Amino acid sequence: MGYNQKMFGLGSKRSIIREIFEYSKARAAEIGAENVFDFSLGNPNVPAPAEVNDTIRELLATENSVLLHGYTSAQGDAGVRKVIADRINEKFGVGISPNLIYMTCGAAASLSICLKAVIEEGEGDECIVFAPFFTEYRVFIENAGGKIVVSQPEEKTFQVDIADFESKITPSTKAVIVNSPNNPSGVVYSEDTVKALCEVLDRKSREYGKVIYLIADEPYRELVYSNVKVPYLMNYYKNTLVCYSFSKSLSLPGERIGYIAVSPTMEDGSNIYLAVCGAGRSLGYVCAPSLFQQVIARCIDAKVNIEAYRENRDLLYNNLTAYGYECVKPDGAFYLFVKALEDDAYAFYERAKAHEILVVPCDDFGVKGYVRIAYCTSHDTVVGALPAFEALAKEYKR
Ligand code: PLP
Repeated sequence: MGYNQKMFGLGSKRSIIREIFEYSKARAAEIGAENVFDFSLGNPNVPAPAEVNDTIRELLATENSVLLHGYTSAQGDAGVRKVIADRINEKFGVGISPNLIYMTCGAAASLSICLKAVIEEGEGDECIVFAPFFTEYRVFIENAGGKIVVSQPEEKTFQVDIADFESKITPSTKAVIVNSPNNPSGVVYSEDTVKALCEVLDRKSREYGKVIYLIADEPYRELVYSNVKVPYLMNYYKNTLVCYSFSKSLSLPGERIGYIAVSPTMEDGSNIYLAVCGAGRSLGYVCAPSLFQQVIARCIDAKVNIEAYRENRDLLYNNLTAYGYECVKPDGAFYLFVKALEDDAYAFYERAKAHEILVVPCDDFGVKGYVRIAYCTSHDTVVGALPAFEALAKEYKR
């Protein structure tokens, strides 16, 4: 047909989330945005901290414009990487050097690059993900030439089911992606879960005489609502790559900025880092946005107002469970994973839509019968949606 049909397939079949987002815009034009309760997209409604905008203005006023807007080295500005390495060391004590930090265009790029760096195309390499999982993992893994393998979670808690995980590891397992706090469940994997998972990985790596890479996808690390600890995986498993992003932690999703950190304990670590550089090159990333590298270096300690998310979470969780919905109380990220009130999550989504509530049916996330509510919306949207959620639950009880 003269062009790549796989790519055509990806481009022409929009993700369900994008589909709903487009519907929401059209519906808002018809009945007014205040009457549509759109919980489809993980696009933060909380603004970036004021110091981010102040820093941008200051950089534009004071820095050399040619340098500020120019290419940086492919792995990122050396000063910026030092700031990031220093902060990681302060917080987690891993002793990482700036030479193991690679600046990226957000977590999606970090993941694509890490997968490309470790997966050997044509070798049958498998990558395990834990359901429910961010649907783009499938795209990134397959694009790197790997095969996705899904491990099912523990029922009710949505923690990793260690026995299921172990049963999914084969001599072809090359990598495992862990996302905590999790999209779409909001669950933070406990330290016990992490320790058990890493013990299995260590044992299986030894048994098969090969490295299995652990890829920590961490765009939500900073978004936690209780005193739960989010274990830093490098401290539990030596062959870890961390994919970090400022999209959610600083509400900068459109600016495309994040990084990869290669564990200092990684086997053959400096070569893995070079493979990361090569993967970034082959994917055409060139370098991460220069202006935002500088912003990050100056705003590394800035924080978004996470109280706004906490209020939305509490209001939704307390009311929905009172109306009869079932869900785990999320400790982090800004998603509520709710059991649909009928087996078919898609049919439930349609019935919610009739009440102007837009949620995401999660079959593609690897768990059937659930929907995701992204509560990174305005507080008014949550308040406005509650009567509609109640009416929907009553409709099912009738
Ligand atoms: N990983 C997960 C689990 C996500 O939820 C997202 C975005 O929603 C990403 C990665 C991609 O984030 P980024 O905007 O940093 O590319």
